[in-house]
Amino acid sequence: MSKTLRLILGDQLSHSISSLGDINRESDTVLMCEVMGEVTYVRHHKKKVAFILSAMRHFAKRLCEQGISVDYVTLDDPENSGNFAGEVARAVTRHNATRLIVTAPGEFRVLEDMKNWETDLGILVEIREDERFLCSPEMFESWANGRKQLRMDFFYREMRRHHDVLMVDGKPVGGKWNFDEENRERPDPSLKVPAPLQFPPDEISTEVLNLVGQHCADHFGELENFGFAVTREQALQVLEHFIANRLPLFGAYQDAMIQDEPWMYHSHIGFYLNIGLLVPAEVIATAQNAFDSGSAPLNSVEGFIRQILGWREFIRGIYWLRMPAYATENFFRANRPLPEFFWTGDTPMNCLSQSIGQTRQYAYAHHIQRLMVLGNFALLAGLAPKSVNEWYLIVYADAFEWVELPNVSGMVLFADGGYLASKPYAAGGAYINRMSNYCQKCRYKVAEKTGSDACPFNYLYWHFLIKNRDKLGTNARLGMIYRSLDRMSEEKQQTIMNDALQFLDALN
Ligand SMILES: Cc1cc2nc3c(=O)[nH]c(=O)nc-3n(C[C@H](O)[C@H](O)[C@H](O)COP(=O)(O)OP(=O)(O)OC[C@H]3O[C@@H](n4cnc5c(N)ncnc54)[C@H](O)[C@@H]3O)c2cc1C
Ligand code: SF4
Repeated sequence: MSKTLRLILGDQLSHSISSLGDINRESDTVLMCEVMGEVTYVRHHKKKVAFILSAMRHFAKRLCEQGISVDYVTLDDPENSGNFAGEVARAVTRHNATRLIVTAPGEFRVLEDMKNWETDLGILVEIREDERFLCSPEMFESWANGRKQLRMDFFYREMRRHHDVLMVDGKPVGGKWNFDEENRERPDPSLKVPAPLQFPPDEISTEVLNLVGQHCADHFGELENFGFAVTREQALQVLEHFIANRLPLFGAYQDAMIQDEPWMYHSHIGFYLNIGLLVPAEVIATAQNAFDSGSAPLNSVEGFIRQILGWREFIRGIYWLRMPAYATENFFRANRPLPEFFWTGDTPMNCLSQSIGQTRQYAYAHHIQRLMVLGNFALLAGLAPKSVNEWYLIVYADAFEWVELPNVSGMVLFADGGYLASKPYAAGGAYINRMSNYCQKCRYKVAEKTGSDACPFNYLYWHFLIKNRDKLGTNARLGMIYRSLDRMSEEKQQTIMNDALQFLDALN
């Protein structure tokens, strides 16, 4: 009898995944494999590796409980070949399989590999669409077709209409598509931010933590205090906890940062969405219900839904539309190596030290830390896109190339020359000071623009604009800023350039 293998990858842990759709429990086998090649092609944060492996093992256990036959290859299996192709080949032999069904992977590199399997293994390989997303690559391509620049706001409106989310009689609820002017409040350090929901490791997680401790000892990050949800039930609890405790203030404080407060009012569900323990449609429906029932205000609910229905799908659309070229784009020809403190957090710049320290500890930093602290620094300091991308892919437990790369190369580094964003997200220290209380504990003075005590973001900001005038000078959204630059004396500009160059020279 012909035998079918159904391959489930580590970010495909959804019972609704297309590769399981028509499973025959009598004859089919689900193949899951932990492969060292994926753990080390960039040396992921220890906690990220433990999180994914533990969630995989829990998912496999649940499939077995449902009477599905699972062939699970562990990382320390002495026969493990260390890569997907090798493990599929071994499983084909073990099961005498003639057919493999898999849902399309999230990374271009893996898809390219998979496309060779049919020829290499001599079996039928069916690669199915990943239906968990709300916009297929084809749908995105037809939306993008003919547009020179892609803007999330327009895409988001299409998605709202298409999926009938927060719409009434064909119009946006509340009469506006976006309520951000009610958001972005400055942080209030007296806020009592609710503690995040964490789960102590069970037997499976403990085993995985030991395994990762042994095999990934030299990877970035800390393994202690592991608290991720590793099952769908736990991930649903995190979602419910967010909706009840954080969503009402999500909008107001979505850009705010507070010293020693990594979690703020964010949802912390990106980890679970990205490996499939939650799916976007249910998250959006849950948030919309919170608005309908009056338990969360529109500014928060719309802002939250926009991140998932808008940004997340938009970013993924760009990834599949522009790969593989997108991975090598470098509009500013930035080539500075990553400073060592990106790995240690050891820098007197308090905002960076806070963001990197929390990243080491939790494999998490929230959006504004990633964008306006770490990303802003990488942009202004001219760090090489390849190294910056690799760092972001390593350090965050929710990082998978399809979502990491466009955020880093497109949103943060403007390496695509403005395909994704209309202008670089560059800012001096004043922005960080407005949205955080980091500057109060910093060795540098945010109000000083030049000199040894000045906040480095201040002179790096102007240095970046001066240095890249040929590329940015005609950008209409930067017109006012370049006009202020032109009003600056030659002498002041020279001091800025000298301070910036001295700082940058000392970086490495
Ligand atoms: C430089 C940079 C790198 C990033 N790398 C990643 C990454 O590797 N993986 C990742 O999932 N997100 C990434 N993001 C987007 C965003 O920062 C994270 O999704 C978010 O911080 C995750 O935390 P949260 O679940 O608490 O999100 P919340 O702030 O609560 O937002 C809710 C959800 O919206 C989605 N979302 C919000 N913004 C974005 C965005 N820009 N792109 C895609 N989805 C978004 C996420 O699924 C997130 O879980 C990156 C952003 C930047 C600026
Ligand atoms: S003064 Fe500058 S370096 Fe220090 S925390 Fe503020 S923005 Fe960051």
